[in-house]
Amino acid sequence: MIEEQRASLGYDIDGVVYKVNRLDYQERLGFRSRAPRWAIAHKFPAEKAFTKIEAIDIQVGRTGALTPVARLTPVTVGGVVVSNATLHNKDYIEGKGQNGEPLRGGHDLRVGDTVTIQRAGDVIPQIVDVDLSKRPADSEPFKFPDRCPICDSHVTREINEKTKKQDAVSRCSGGLACSAQVLERLKHFVSRGAFDIDGMGDKVIDEFYEAGLIKTLPDIFTLEQRDKDNALSKIQNREGWGKTSAQNLFDAINAARKVELARFIYGLGIRHVGETTGRMLSRYYGSVERFITAMKAIAANREGPEYHALIDIDGLGEAVANSLAEFFAEEHNVSVVDLLLGELDVQDAEAVEDTSAVSGKTVVFTGKLEKMSRSEAKAMAERLGAKVSGSVSAKTDLLVAGPGAGSKLKKAESLGVEVVSEDGWFELIGQN
Ligand SMILES: [Zn+2]
Repeated sequence: MIEEQRASLGYDIDGVVYKVNRLDYQERLGFRSRAPRWAIAHKFPAEKAFTKIEAIDIQVGRTGALTPVARLTPVTVGGVVVSNATLHNKDYIEGKGQNGEPLRGGHDLRVGDTVTIQRAGDVIPQIVDVDLSKRPADSEPFKFPDRCPICDSHVTREINEKTKKQDAVSRCSGGLACSAQVLERLKHFVSRGAFDIDGMGDKVIDEFYEAGLIKTLPDIFTLEQRDKDNALSKIQNREGWGKTSAQNLFDAINAARKVELARFIYGLGIRHVGETTGRMLSRYYGSVERFITAMKAIAANREGPEYHALIDIDGLGEAVANSLAEFFAEEHNVSVVDLLLGELDVQDAEAVEDTSAVSGKTVVFTGKLEKMSRSEAKAMAERLGAKVSGSVSAKTDLLVAGPGAGSKLKKAESLGVEVVSEDGWFELIGQN
């Protein structure tokens, strides 16, 4: 039987497909919806093996997620030597499933435990059971870290806004200081919606990070000085670089020092704080000083008036507020932000133009816009004091409809909402 040979085959299989050999029979049997009647798949049961947990390590991912990994005494399962198994999260180690249901009979996993592992198909091996009769007498429950093993920032678990349940994932809160996360943060920081530094894309960030030229956000702005001081091997001498391209990069970096508050906030890469939220916060706080002061107050006290004011900002919600609080509660982040601010000239938010024709109105964009992208349209409307919504309702004041507008246009007409074309929009706001 092929199943007995499975372990000694030179390749991985997870089952066998039996087929009718004769083509004329195949033709007579034909197909049933999508699958042929002349073939049938037989999956082998998952292969199991016993081994021991030698250690439990914590890995920190690019988004700060802490993933525990079991280091196993190497064992062969289905012809493959297995020495690691993912333990997913804290609850999983404690024997609790996603909805609090017991896993493995509710038994936790400890270093020194004898466990059953399984490989189903070619997925990552799983621990399916633990043999309590073999548990060493002196074993202790695994202590999941409350500080990041890489940067020592505090570890948090989010509360889901809707279900009020704790998220399964534990995260390092030190996004700007954690070497596991900083490369992603750097890429985000220079990206278009954030600081938008010309000539500094993902590839350059990868290169400079690799070379140790840029390790954290403020390093971007000290690059030119360090280059001049010969504190690093000159960028113009690097492969693919020259005098001009290096100078162009420094110029682009210097130009980016003067930055809108909304872009600065978004650029920090705080979880749940996207471009729209960045703009909302920028409009609300107005200046970087007020923003930072409020964030520090919120981080220190999540019951206080600043916290409630933050949640009450139009549609912002608790997930964003808590994420901001966690970020600014971590000293490692705050010191990076302070260094960064020393390099920047953050512009106050533009005062909302109350005098514009669309100020205070709820606007919906639909159809194909030809003179501006959807995000430009949204930003423009918000700058003029309008609120942009995704759907038409009785609260809608204005629908801007480009060619191909469909159901939203119909609904607006039936509700008697004012409808204008894209040109009409520009006329309305006085920019035609
Ligand atoms: Zn960390």
